[in-house]
Amino acid sequence: MTAPQSRASPKKGDLTAAEKEMLQVVVSGNIQEALKLLSGGDVRVNCLDECGMTPLMHAAYKGKADMCQLLLQHGADVNCNEHEYGYTALMFAGLSGNSEITRMMLDAGAETDLVNSVGRTAAQMAAFVGQHDCVTVINNFFSRSRLEYYTRPQGLEREPKLPPKLAGPLHKIIMTTNLNPVKMVMLVKENPLLVDVAALEKCYRVMDLLCEQCVKQQDMNEVLAMKMHYISCVLQKCLAFLQERDDKLDALLKSLLKGRDGDGFPQYQEKFIRDCIRKFPYCEATLLQQLVRSIAPVEIGNDPTAFSVLTQALTGQMALMDAEFCATCGERGADKRCSLCKMVIYCGSACQRLHWFTHKRICKALQEQRVCRERDTPRLREVPDNGANQSIFISTFK
Ligand SMILES: [Zn+2]
Ligand SMILES: [Zn+2]
Repeated sequence: MTAPQSRASPKKGDLTAAEKEMLQVVVSGNIQEALKLLSGGDVRVNCLDECGMTPLMHAAYKGKADMCQLLLQHGADVNCNEHEYGYTALMFAGLSGNSEITRMMLDAGAETDLVNSVGRTAAQMAAFVGQHDCVTVINNFFSRSRLEYYTRPQGLEREPKLPPKLAGPLHKIIMTTNLNPVKMVMLVKENPLLVDVAALEKCYRVMDLLCEQCVKQQDMNEVLAMKMHYISCVLQKCLAFLQERDDKLDALLKSLLKGRDGDGFPQYQEKFIRDCIRKFPYCEATLLQQLVRSIAPVEIGNDPTAFSVLTQALTGQMALMDAEFCATCGERGADKRCSLCKMVIYCGSACQRLHWFTHKRICKALQEQRVCRERDTPRLREVPDNGANQSIFISTFK
């Protein structure tokens, strides 16, 4: 048998013995063997099995993250589209439900708008099989290089629109899938480079440019445009507070969290998000019209909140009920409860402490509500606090 030419384009099902072995090794996830085979010279990294699947597609579908990494390092083509039904590695990653691999494919340059033989994109396929985390990752992906374009002077500019040191922190905010404004202000606050009037001004202007770009590009991406606009609004709000006083971001956090009398509903936050949506500069966008239609008839304080409508539109997360969200920052997987009322959950003691100034006003009423409800329902046995968290308010329920 002749050694395969690495540059010749592979034919479906035309596999050397080593390549057949390679496909088995990929599926089983044996990294050492895979490395040996790849270094042996008889394996083309983009070889195709009878269905037109590459080793990378197999690894993605089986959820083998390390294997995907190894194959990409060896030059696996992330956009190979030879599969009999037009599936790409990104589609297989989405189907597998592995969001780490999905992100890896995107970082490696996977195209998000390729469609399979029935016209579905990777995000649509992942949604179809209920892999909402992967949908979120795909819909919110924005490559760092697209942002870094603005860190180089363009045309006659003497200075770039975005100082290179701001690209990292800003990209982190762009990639967040938690659109809670409290969380976004926290992301600004945690980076000293961003807690600066001049830096915030540059960042929000770049966000506005990106928003415009997403609207005007050939395949208009309204979802990303709305997200860019929303981030710009949050940054502008931070800027407005910072211009008054250096420690004003804390004041902004409190405004966003402050609950109104009676039910503790965070009115300021609701109005802020509604305003952001209304200020979207491209009024002909269908997404904007949908959002306004969903939000306008809802009285402030009722469901759905502007936050949940926006999150659903931008991240594709429909099943918000299956996860627990921090009452302060909206992070998923919150598992700490206010130990007094046991009605509010947090991701950690920092968030709980930040919320207490407003929660304390309704905590007692919530306690009474719970007692009334529990009188008629059998009690769940509480797992004793493991003592890992010493907060006076929090107890952990696992
Ligand atoms: Zn939190
Ligand atoms: Zn409470």
